[in-house]
Amino acid sequence: MTDSKNISVVLQSVNNIKLEERPIPRPGPRQVLLRMDSVGICGSDVHYWTHGAIGDFVVRQPMVLGHESAGVVTEVGAEVDSLRPGDRVAVEPGIPCRFCDLCKSGRYNLCPDVKFLATPPVDGSLSGWHVHDADFCFRLPDHVSLEEGALLEPLSVGVHARRRAGVTLGSRVLICGAGPIGLVNLLTAKAMGADTVILTDINPHRLTVAKEMGADATLIATGSLVSQVCALFNGRRPDIVIECTGAEASVGLSVRACRSGGCVVLVGLGKPEIVLPIVQASVREVDIRGVFRYANCYPDALSLVAQGRVNVKPLITHRFPLSKSVDAFETAKTGAGNAIKMSAEKNIAVV
Ligand code: NAD
Ligand code: ZN
Repeated sequence: MTDSKNISVVLQSVNNIKLEERPIPRPGPRQVLLRMDSVGICGSDVHYWTHGAIGDFVVRQPMVLGHESAGVVTEVGAEVDSLRPGDRVAVEPGIPCRFCDLCKSGRYNLCPDVKFLATPPVDGSLSGWHVHDADFCFRLPDHVSLEEGALLEPLSVGVHARRRAGVTLGSRVLICGAGPIGLVNLLTAKAMGADTVILTDINPHRLTVAKEMGADATLIATGSLVSQVCALFNGRRPDIVIECTGAEASVGLSVRACRSGGCVVLVGLGKPEIVLPIVQASVREVDIRGVFRYANCYPDALSLVAQGRVNVKPLITHRFPLSKSVDAFETAKTGAGNAIKMSAEKNIAVV
């Protein structure tokens, strides 16, 4: 694979990924051309591959996968003065319209016209070269690696969820699910000074990783969970529950376990409709809040990494060259070898 080729990982149809050579894109006046370095594989990439759709987003034409990425600027558009060739940047993957009420109020993650990498029909960044709007690229200090830059994407989900939940100094936090998203929420909650952070999962290996990454305690999600959660929080309930599984049972637990007057944020995306203990939420004034991606979170995520207040490196368990992307997807799907995240590097890998 040479630098002059733009090898891209293209989802052709369900269960069918092919490497394809595409033209190297040209940057517009406010864009930069990036030589991609590290690209993580997210659960959504795997889901598009295995199902061809997530909710209303249906893959109807071949689409380049990947949206957790970082690369090196090689060319800047005529109107770009914030970046220059050689800059190493993390790529924030969602470009909103910038003009609607939601964009103007700062909640651009909710923009109805957002163009998000690898969300159909928008091509992703799992390719040799990628063009991106310069104001959605974040320059990395020398001591932050491009791999860490790619991980700012999931970390930003944790930054946004902690803002929506109000996690702060002294918070007692239950996180349901110890996948990559539960783990980044663990990192951000701890970095904010949370007093106690406890994670649940049904996979013991993931709980072992959670312990290694700083969880105060972990809990296998079986049996009478509310009483087990209370016991782990010394007889009290958590102030905040961050639900990161989407599983119906776990969403129910989140409401039941949360203290009266506390807050549940729903990060996990599962079935579109589920049964919820909603009267419990009403009579105990448990706030239930949605979380969708992030807005204005990359700067904080970068600062957390650059200052050494979080260590995202343990999230990456497997690295593949771009040419082995199908293997990377297989590993991500099956969890072979206790995979958490795959990264494709120097011409791509999967996180
Ligand atoms: P993942 O599948 O790797 O992790 C989910 C974890 O939940 C797994 O470890 C699984 O074993 C565990 N789990 C399943 N059922 C459980 C139960 N009943 N109790 C406890 N644990 C259980 O996924 P991920 O990449 O970590 O993402 C987590 C969720 O967040 C997914 O639903 C994903 O779609 C969603 N997500 C949402 C946003 C958003 O903007 N709202 C962004 C990214 C991901
Ligand atoms: Zn908008």
